[in-house]
Amino acid sequence: MPPTLAEVPAPTAGPRPQPQPVLDRSAPPRVVIVGSGFGGLYAARQLRRAPVEVTLVDRRNHHLFQPLLYQVATAVLSPGDIAYPIRAIFRGRSNIRVLLAEATAVDLQRRKVHLRDGELDYDYLILAPGSTHTYFGHNEWEASAPSLKSLEDALEVRRRILLAFEKAERESDLARRRQLLTFAIIGGGPTGVELAGAIAEIARQVMVRDFRSIDPREARVLLIEAGPRLLPEFAPDLSAEARRELEHKGVEVRTGEPVTYVDREQIRLNGQSIPAATTLWAAGVAPSPLGRMLGVALDRRGRVPVNVDLSLPGHPEVYVVGDLASCRDKLGRQMPGLAPVAMQEGRHAAANILRAIAGRPPRPFRYFDKGMLATIGRAAAVAQIGPLHLSGLVAWWTWVTVHISYLIGFRNRLVVMLEWAWSYLSYQRAARLITGDIDAVYPVREIPAESREAR
Ligand SMILES: Cc1cc2nc3c(=O)[nH]c(=O)nc-3n(C[C@H](O)[C@H](O)[C@H](O)COP(=O)(O)OP(=O)(O)OC[C@H]3O[C@@H](n4cnc5c(N)ncnc54)[C@H](O)[C@@H]3O)c2cc1C
Repeated sequence: MPPTLAEVPAPTAGPRPQPQPVLDRSAPPRVVIVGSGFGGLYAARQLRRAPVEVTLVDRRNHHLFQPLLYQVATAVLSPGDIAYPIRAIFRGRSNIRVLLAEATAVDLQRRKVHLRDGELDYDYLILAPGSTHTYFGHNEWEASAPSLKSLEDALEVRRRILLAFEKAERESDLARRRQLLTFAIIGGGPTGVELAGAIAEIARQVMVRDFRSIDPREARVLLIEAGPRLLPEFAPDLSAEARRELEHKGVEVRTGEPVTYVDREQIRLNGQSIPAATTLWAAGVAPSPLGRMLGVALDRRGRVPVNVDLSLPGHPEVYVVGDLASCRDKLGRQMPGLAPVAMQEGRHAAANILRAIAGRPPRPFRYFDKGMLATIGRAAAVAQIGPLHLSGLVAWWTWVTVHISYLIGFRNRLVVMLEWAWSYLSYQRAARLITGDIDAVYPVREIPAESREAR
């Protein structure tokens, strides 16, 4: 017998959420979670001892700690240090089933999640498929300027950075050598700042004595931001501090200059062409295309607007969390696309499902803002924690502690701590490996062009 749900009014976007449906069945309710990134993982963890049958669906077999992807891209860490098999996380939890599958659509009326190769029925659904990158309508730039979203992306970026030095070593033409040693990073948010700082360090500290024909310190690292300042989500004093620190490391920071053209040989901005053989894209993210499959009105950035309790308007059994959700706090502020937001939303959606099963009304979501951090390289970072603005070594230690504590798995924490200590003391990079064909061409994928958000 399919479950019957006693219909009660759906919650609205107002301040007082309405009670949710109460399940009228003896079998455990089926909760499907799509995505096991930060939102989905924390939702599943919240349900691990609850009387529900959870199916956790992800098209990858691992949870990825995206904030440290740039460290794989710059050869500090290896892929296995920042990823963890999802199945292993829930090994001992008999009520949680992990499926390696891709969700392609949701049938809200029939309560089904369509997979590329099957379908799943649900009583409750948590959608947490995250986001993808966007090139603001210039998808053709992707082949020339890869971005960072997956382990494959990180390995490709690492390959390009390391190969550029190798090719420059063999190049006798001075102009071409200069082009090979020019790295352009587009986008001055945390990822762009982190990449620029790390590449400057590779050139000036890590590679210094390794080449015979070139001096890696001659490398030109450009960080280009279309807006007026770096780290636009941080307070102006921290943006200025980040810029100072990057310039001190030798990075050329250019703000207020949108890039108008990118190919494998150059970038163009302000009518000027800069020869650059390695361009990296850190400029935009767009919500998962799964949001469009719901058939509901999206916000202007393509996110799914949710009620104050994180449920989908008109569907109290469906929750949307993380980067895909357009959620405002009680002051009307839009929740940013950050890992702590996704974690807290995931936990909150799961808790509301348990309340609904117990016949209690859902609670509105309240974000506990623990602050923002961005690292600029060795012993330098900025941190904004409420009214507290930190920079330099103190901020860097805060960054180290926070990232170690949120990594999944004891082994990963230990290994990352050891790798960081080693690279801090030795100025070396443990994972300086070029993988794949040295002349391989970066694959072009399909990217939704419309929605955009500068990180
Ligand atoms: C390079 C980078 C650096 C970042 N740095 C920081 C930082 O320093 N601090 C910070 O707070 N935030 C940072 N973020 C943002 C943060 O990682 C995201 O806000 C957070 O991961 C969002 O969580 P989520 O659960 O919504 O999505 P995600 O964590 O992206 O997880 C989505 C999951 O859904 C799966 N999935 C997607 N589509 C499907 C589908 N159709 N079917 C099945 N599975 C699917 C994916 O495989 C993935 O596992 C960074 C992001 C990036 C890319």
